[in-house]
Amino acid sequence: MIVSVASGKGGTGKTLVSTSLALSLKDHVQLLDCDVEEPNAHIFLKPVFEREEVVAVPVPRVDESKCTFCGRCADVCAFNAIAVLPKKVMVFPELCHGCGACSYLCPEGAISEVDREIGVLQAGHSGQIEFIHGKLNVGEALAVPLIRRVKEFIDPAKTVIVDVSPGTSCPVIEAVRGSDFCLLVTEPTPFGLNDLALAVEATKKLDVPCGVLINRAGVGDDTVERYCKGEGVPVLLHIPLDTEIARLYSRGVTLVDGMPEWRPAFQRLFRDMRDMASAWQAKRGI
Ligand code: SF4
Ligand code: SF4
Repeated sequence: MIVSVASGKGGTGKTLVSTSLALSLKDHVQLLDCDVEEPNAHIFLKPVFEREEVVAVPVPRVDESKCTFCGRCADVCAFNAIAVLPKKVMVFPELCHGCGACSYLCPEGAISEVDREIGVLQAGHSGQIEFIHGKLNVGEALAVPLIRRVKEFIDPAKTVIVDVSPGTSCPVIEAVRGSDFCLLVTEPTPFGLNDLALAVEATKKLDVPCGVLINRAGVGDDTVERYCKGEGVPVLLHIPLDTEIARLYSRGVTLVDGMPEWRPAFQRLFRDMRDMASAWQAKRGI
């Protein structure tokens, strides 16, 4: 089963949840940190890395001695990453998504591909948990290929927890896609509600069932609860606003390590998500 842990906005405690969820399940667990712009699950799980690889996207290189400046490559590029002038072809590698369409369609065979590094992937273990994360290079915008590479490590025989970047942009969609369930972590404030509603819409579009975990319960009002009730989105767990939890977090200690009494609550949460995912799949005849 694949559970993605997402949040409409940053700072809701998503990593506190994903790491404690992984630690609460016994064996055969993977944690994939797909928050590649700012991965921090490793700070809590302190994995030992056994493997590191550079992740790159192929970008075009034009041999102008073969080029007739026909403009076909620029026409096909959906990302404006290539421009053809009367006597020059300009490539903008940072805009290129590495789709390969330009080299495929060039009638003169003038385009070859070279790798452009976008980040690194590291894989290892934290105790029994298999841990994989991606780290996007500073200033790099192209997160999706790195997330895809991290997700290639998914082992269907295991329980997979995917830590997703905050928001509802392309990297979030890519990380949540294919999950059996999406747990949305929010806080009970008007800002939390606004971003939660966007995240719920995104999961609907992806046809992934979702539920909500309210973190720092007690800090705001009941608008998130009322929204969830109105939308038929189950609220699966409340974590109260608690200075001890905040203190653990600031020291890089997971909730279930610092306060083991939370472990059964996360185990229950997982069972609930698994039951809801099964019911969802049964309804769709999967
Ligand atoms: S498609 Fe090929 S030949 Fe045409 S402008 Fe681009 S690189 Fe040159
Ligand atoms: S590989 Fe794709 S995205 Fe990159 S320049 Fe060519 S057509 Fe554009």
